Amino acid sequence: MPYIHDRYDALVIGGGIAGMQAALDLGEQGFDVLLVEKGPSIGGVMVGLNKVFPTLDCSSCICTPRMAESAHHPRIRLQTYTEVQAVRRDGAGFAVELLKKPRYLDETACIGCGECELACPIEVPHEFDYGLGARRAIYIPHGNAIPQKAVLSVEDCVFCGKCEKVCPADCMDFTQLPERVTTMVGAVIVATGLEITPMDAKPHYGRGLIPNVMSPLAMERIQSSNGPYGRVLRPADGKVPRSIAYVQCAGSRDRSIGIPYCSRVCCMYALKQALLLRHYIHDVEVTLYYMDIRAFGKGYEQFYRRALAEGVKVVKGKVGRITELENYDLSLRVELLDEDQRLVERRHELVVLSQGLIPAWHPSAILGIEEADDHFIKAPDLKVAPSVTTVAGTFAAGVAAGPKDIPDAIVEAGDAAMAAANYLAAMGWNGTAARVPVPA
Ligand SMILES: Cc1cc2nc3c(=O)[nH]c(=O)nc-3n(C[C@H](O)[C@H](O)[C@H](O)COP(=O)(O)OP(=O)(O)OC[C@H]3O[C@@H](n4cnc5c(N)ncnc54)[C@H](O)[C@@H]3O)c2cc1C
Repeated sequence: MPYIHDRYDALVIGGGIAGMQAALDLGEQGFDVLLVEKGPSIGGVMVGLNKVFPTLDCSSCICTPRMAESAHHPRIRLQTYTEVQAVRRDGAGFAVELLKKPRYLDETACIGCGECELACPIEVPHEFDYGLGARRAIYIPHGNAIPQKAVLSVEDCVFCGKCEKVCPADCMDFTQLPERVTTMVGAVIVATGLEITPMDAKPHYGRGLIPNVMSPLAMERIQSSNGPYGRVLRPADGKVPRSIAYVQCAGSRDRSIGIPYCSRVCCMYALKQALLLRHYIHDVEVTLYYMDIRAFGKGYEQFYRRALAEGVKVVKGKVGRITELENYDLSLRVELLDEDQRLVERRHELVVLSQGLIPAWHPSAILGIEEADDHFIKAPDLKVAPSVTTVAGTFAAGVAAGPKDIPDAIVEAGDAAMAAANYLAAMGWNGTAARVPVPA
């Protein structure tokens, strides 16, 4: 385990945009922060997005500077590929037990050259591209990953030793084991973010088994210039799709699957993707099947109007069933929600399910924090203290506390950092800054 101090002012769990922002805000105030990320890179969902609504800025252009700042900040200790195993109240703070998963190489020695990746003979579907691209058994998570260090997936490895032979830093270590370490912290911020509702939540939409019925995150990767295909192609046969449908509320506002709430970002990300598709494929027809369009944020209604003006079509209707046809096209049974409420069949070449957001982690077992009815972290005093949880000294930020977009996740992270700073002062937590000198 790379060196971990025995005491930090705050632990931030989750290295997405909310966790990074909370860590940076605390670090800038002079607090020492331990930022723990379960994956091999920080960046969360945002680093894999193409462009962001409503400005259509390049997502990684905004995200990667924050990733670099978090990794190099003198008051932030970044610990990737690590999970929080236990948290116990201990005096004025919390005793935290971490489990560092093995990368099967010396992380401090790895120079991120990628020679191991080139030598590896194994190819498996790449998680970063939602299975549409490939990675090797040993790989650097993606081009913008921080840290730029390789990780060996032991499940995929055939132990041919080729990576070890070519590694110029001589850093491979196939004997590495998971390592446990404990530390003390004064406050905890949970920023563990989102997953999208599973593809099989709605069985009538193909259970994730129809290749041309895809998730919105996979579409973000397909639209990205560094994505799996480099342009927009449909997965089943590599054809350029000329007719694309978005199925809204495909995993939100649906009591039958236990997700009655609105996920807040789906209308906007679908409109964004639809508008961009109109830019990427000049003669494409894109149709959103929706119940209501919820364009709630600053500049969002204007963005919706822009999408309509640039040719995105919207149809008020509920999609009941999606069937694959012989040539990989899709047939959608739609209940139109206009005056005559007809049932119609519509044919499209590609379908994107606007899946909703669910919490990626449930901290109740480890931190004792209560969940709300929607299973996101409960804020007992939502209006005046939105980041305060039911356990004193613990705070929530970003989608861990409920579905939200990036601007709201960043604002909430600032609130969580401020609330944690106030809490540390009130508890008389004297901080570690005096004992852990910042390197010059
Ligand atoms: C398809 C799609 C498109 C979107 N497009 C936009 C857009 O254009 N504009 C916009 O404003 N918003 C957009 N959003 C919403 C945006 O993705 C979220 O608002 C944002 O990612 C929330 O950041 P977060 O840090 O809360 O969570 P995340 O990005 O999910 O980050 C959470 C981090 O915590 C880590 N983690 C999880 N569990 C643990 C654990 N137990 N221990 C340690 N680490 C853990 C995860 O690995 C991850 O790195 C989109 C969402 C989707 C699904």
